[in-house]
Amino acid sequence: MRTTDITRTLGDQFQCTRCHAASDWLQIARPALRQNSIVHRLQCARCGDQIVAKVSLGDEPGGGDGDARTHSRREYETLRALQLLFPANQRYATLEPLGYLESVGFGTVITRLFHGKDLIRHMRELDTNGVAEACREAGNWLRTLHESGASEVRRKGLDMADKLSYLTSSYGPVLRGNSKIWAAYQCLVQEGTRIGTPVFRAVRLHGDFKPENMLCDGRRYVGLDVQWRTTGPAVYDLAPFLNHLWLAGHHLGSTANRHYQQAEKEFLAGYGQLDDIRVLRWVQLYFALCQLGGYRKRGRLAASYARWKVWPLVRKLTGQLV
Ligand SMILES: [Zn+2]
Repeated sequence: MRTTDITRTLGDQFQCTRCHAASDWLQIARPALRQNSIVHRLQCARCGDQIVAKVSLGDEPGGGDGDARTHSRREYETLRALQLLFPANQRYATLEPLGYLESVGFGTVITRLFHGKDLIRHMRELDTNGVAEACREAGNWLRTLHESGASEVRRKGLDMADKLSYLTSSYGPVLRGNSKIWAAYQCLVQEGTRIGTPVFRAVRLHGDFKPENMLCDGRRYVGLDVQWRTTGPAVYDLAPFLNHLWLAGHHLGSTANRHYQQAEKEFLAGYGQLDDIRVLRWVQLYFALCQLGGYRKRGRLAASYARWKVWPLVRKLTGQLV
């Protein structure tokens, strides 16, 4: 959807939620192209209220389809449900949904603009203590999300067999192609056997919890892209956050490693309960191998990037497990 289209659509179909008047909408930043959407930032010409309009895209370049629309509608409904759990203007929040528009093939989710940076960019401006504090808050935010689920307590296992079979069916050949990586996979299998089949409290999972999906303005923490589709042990949200956190800083040398250790400790303390550190490492290694496999599937250039970027994480986690 072009800039002129979105401003016209909003002008015709969306009334400003602050001044409640039909108004023109002015684009205040260049549209940002994401993997499956275009994100527009706009401002009410009358009162200046700032919003974000996220237009879903389909698989066809530049075109929408039914799936994209369904995805978009679901995203809006999830945001509405989350509003009940994260009251407006509290320290921990999610994006505030203002409206949803649908036109042929497209869904547009409208939220209030939050002036914050993603946690990786935010943390670049902080010292070690500041980074640790931000990570503690992120852990707290996640616990708030997990505790807000159904009151009925259910328990679930790690589904290790499914995870291992996914890993080999999706990335088997590229993992086997390198003896060190294959050894790391073998380590995952062996440690999985040793861990056995424990069960944990099942929570409704964020589904893509990572520092890039959290915004912070120095005071408030706003979680993005909450998928909320599956339930399972909390470790499936804790592990990807820690992997992304480590990947964001690992190439800075030993100082970064010390900072990371403190940040990890605070993140886990902020979350408040961790059943078993070995289980966390196991799930981290599983995600890291998926990521490594994904890069290696994309060809030589991506594979050499992965060797620099993701392999050190796989090596570190393997060392922590055995
Ligand atoms: Zn207005």
